[in-house]
Amino acid sequence: MSSFDTKYIFVTGGVLSSLGKGITSASIATLLKQSGFCIGILKIDPYINVDPGTMSPLEHGEVFVTTDGAETDLDIGHYERFLNTSFTSKNNFTTGQVYLSVIERERSGGYLGKTIQVVPHIVDEIKNRIKLAGEGREILVVELGGTVGDIEGLPFLEAMRQMKQEYGMDRVISLHVTLIPLIKAAGELKTKPTQHSVQELRRIGISPQIIIARSEKEIPLDLKNKLSMSCDVDSDCVISAHDAQSIYQMPLNFYKEGVLSPIARFLKLPEFNPDMKEWDILVKQILAPQNEVTIAFVGKYLRSKESYKSLIEALIHAGANLDTKVNIEWIDSEEIENNEESLEKLRYVGGILVPGGFGVRGVNGKMQAIQFARENNIPFLGICLGMQLAIIEFCRNKLGILQADSIEFNKETKEPAIYLIENFIDTNGEEQIRTHKSPMGGTMRLGEYECYTKKDSKLQKAYNGQSKIYERHRHRYEANPKYREILEKAGMIVSGESHGLIEAVELVDHPWFVAVQFHPEFTSRLQAPNLVILEFIRQAINAKSHSSK
Ligand code: GLN
Repeated sequence: MSSFDTKYIFVTGGVLSSLGKGITSASIATLLKQSGFCIGILKIDPYINVDPGTMSPLEHGEVFVTTDGAETDLDIGHYERFLNTSFTSKNNFTTGQVYLSVIERERSGGYLGKTIQVVPHIVDEIKNRIKLAGEGREILVVELGGTVGDIEGLPFLEAMRQMKQEYGMDRVISLHVTLIPLIKAAGELKTKPTQHSVQELRRIGISPQIIIARSEKEIPLDLKNKLSMSCDVDSDCVISAHDAQSIYQMPLNFYKEGVLSPIARFLKLPEFNPDMKEWDILVKQILAPQNEVTIAFVGKYLRSKESYKSLIEALIHAGANLDTKVNIEWIDSEEIENNEESLEKLRYVGGILVPGGFGVRGVNGKMQAIQFARENNIPFLGICLGMQLAIIEFCRNKLGILQADSIEFNKETKEPAIYLIENFIDTNGEEQIRTHKSPMGGTMRLGEYECYTKKDSKLQKAYNGQSKIYERHRHRYEANPKYREILEKAGMIVSGESHGLIEAVELVDHPWFVAVQFHPEFTSRLQAPNLVILEFIRQAINAKSHSSK
């Protein structure tokens, strides 16, 4: 099918935010993909930031990094995890990017002296970006961030209205995700906010064809009929999206609710059925697993667990594939610093995980946890900052280099075990490294790079013996190769490298202690769990079963 024929499913949100538009979009796209369609998916964010790269994780949640190094919204992570597909910078754009490119074009004379306005120029730029994301796809699912009624969402809704006008009803449909609140005192589900939200959409010229009704409880038939009547949609077009135990149940629930038949009818698609057999098995293993293991997650952004979204999901994927429930014991690294006794909690877990992070706050607590894992033979996985701290901890406590530090925490350190890659690039002229100048200053190494694994290492075994793997990065600092020899002599070997950069270290005399500079969580999917995370969980399960004997 040529890009000319691409069909579009627009997903808008009503009443309030956080209704799960991302999961709804990903679930519907999954059903279509499993039915054999070539699917694309796009998230539009109405905020003015050019990308979320500079936002605090506490403000925005995780920054998800694509293979081509784009810093994107965390919903792109959901899309990849559900669709088992890698997306790129084309699959997410913001108001900031739209305005930036229109203004840059205006400054360089690209509009030939015309007055630049929201309609048509901004809206045209939006339409072009949507069409670009849909190129070569049979169906593009477009999720519009924010809530209908927001001022900043208007140009996007106008773009959607125009595309419907341009392409016709059988190429553009609108799906509205809205809240049906349960009023506990009356025990009643209320439809009024949804009616108002649909009216607001109609006022700007959009009549949604499908209503996704989010609710605590399943929406009964009489209420569906009422919604169908008041929102002017066909009776099979009100889909109940009631709370589920796991987000991975949602595609199955939507399928049962019959969402595919109105989509097929409106878009005039040939008959199809999704193959959800494998998905169904994995979901059963999430809901009723045979086994259980607890992982200590030593982080510092615990007020907003959304900052660790991909990693939390990656643990679920590993668990689902090993038929094991992975419980997370959240450990605040600053709490360890204030109260050493909290380290004792680590004695009872299957494995210790130190994730990525920025800044000096909480790093000592993380290093105490790393030391505990090292000295007590507890399976350990360090990610990004987690690897950098594993090296510093080893230098300080095993090699006696007490001043060992990262330039990130101490610019003046005499022992920069972790240093700036800018220096590295300068001294070695490694030009093949893709780096992005950050607007905050400094250079970030972003996106996918190859990593060569050491023969017979724990890392290579985890990756099923592959000597070359691909993983994604988001960091500024690097392990300093000056320390490599002394680290290796003392038992911390480099087990992954990329063009002279240290990508992974591990301990020789430890059951399983592996730390990686990349973020394995970004490539984990329900149907294809990340292999080093899978191995970590496998090791944690084994360690637990040995210790309970
Ligand atoms: N702060 C460290 C760096 O910039 C680690 C980053 C991370 O963990 N993502 O290198």
